[in-house]
Amino acid sequence: MTTSPLGGPAKVVASDYVAPRLPEDLPDAYCEGDIATVPLVEEPHRASWQPEIPERYLSMSADELADRIRGVRAALGERLLILGHHYQRDDVIRFTDVRGDSFKLAREAAARPQADYILFCGVHFMAESADILTGPDQAVMLPNLAAGCSMADMAQPQDVYASWDELTSVVEAERTIPITYMNSAASLKAFVGRNGGAVCTSSNAPAVLRWAFERGDRVLFFPDQHLGRNTGKRLGVDPVGEMAVWNPALPMGGLEPGRITDSRILLWQGHCSVHVRFKVEQIERARAKHPGCRVVVHPECTEAVVDAADADGSTEFIIRYVKDGPPGVYAVGTEINLVHRLNAEVEAEGKTAFCLDPVVCPCATMYRIHPAYQAWVLEELIAGRIVNQIRVDDETRSWAQVALRRMLEIT
Ligand code: SF4
Repeated sequence: MTTSPLGGPAKVVASDYVAPRLPEDLPDAYCEGDIATVPLVEEPHRASWQPEIPERYLSMSADELADRIRGVRAALGERLLILGHHYQRDDVIRFTDVRGDSFKLAREAAARPQADYILFCGVHFMAESADILTGPDQAVMLPNLAAGCSMADMAQPQDVYASWDELTSVVEAERTIPITYMNSAASLKAFVGRNGGAVCTSSNAPAVLRWAFERGDRVLFFPDQHLGRNTGKRLGVDPVGEMAVWNPALPMGGLEPGRITDSRILLWQGHCSVHVRFKVEQIERARAKHPGCRVVVHPECTEAVVDAADADGSTEFIIRYVKDGPPGVYAVGTEINLVHRLNAEVEAEGKTAFCLDPVVCPCATMYRIHPAYQAWVLEELIAGRIVNQIRVDDETRSWAQVALRRMLEIT
């Protein structure tokens, strides 16, 4: 199995982030950080990024890097496929063949057997999923190996295995269905495959949960408690009486046996550090400032935020909601790169899309895909070397495929 790019010991999951109080007169979609590309050497957080990149790439400008990336694309043609997640910065997205959410991108990778090389401009778990779904002769590469996902890292495999053993000491394993969100390590996808469960995405989580309840009495849902809670609630499961949060740092998840047996959904105590920043007060402020605006958020937001919004759904849903909606103002609860691009694409139709959190910054780990890393990995290909390849071992791959296939059959 591959290791988490961030590695380290099992984590105690922090409680939800509390947004600071904001002055009333902040402009919409203000970002405290500058998301324009600067040479890698000027990036303030570079110290924690993959250090192996050759020195000559450190001071290259965005234009020089763009020329180099363009050159490799022209040289490799269809042998190269570049995939980019919606949360990537513009200077990365402009050189991608396909833009999408994690599931769409993994499927695109699987649908292009002619591509010998797949550069996955996203985070580690996404590149793993692409490797699982592609052929043995295709190489999937992640530009910067430090691009992990803080939510995925909140479910460390050894914690999930230990929690499963504890949980199934008080409830029947056969009637307990493990469901993992796409945002998880390949080893956890394999774990749910082996234990009768499935993978889900933010688009198909309701269908996957419905499937699970046809097979069992309860679900262990990880790593994102908010997606699990919001989805379960949509299906009529009571978040107070029939769901409980499983804290992996505590014995038995910190729950009494009776609380476990009464629960239909056990929610792993994990969250997305970007989406828990959105608050109900931001929605109220947006509505006060833009009467009649529509509010659409991602289901990784808290229950209160999802309840207060007009609609919630995956990144693909959010994009469709704004693009297919009538002219007007849209307040959006997801990552700022997506919102900026969406706004630019709909402006001409009399629509404005702005980010609900006025000080939100990009997903810190997606941001680590700097064009310098893109250029380096691509130019290595021209030199006949594959660097930063993401490989999932055969046993993990085969069980993870079981879990992914179940998801595909359900949806
Ligand atoms: S936005 Fe959240 S879930 Fe997505 S990669 Fe970033 S930390 Fe992970």
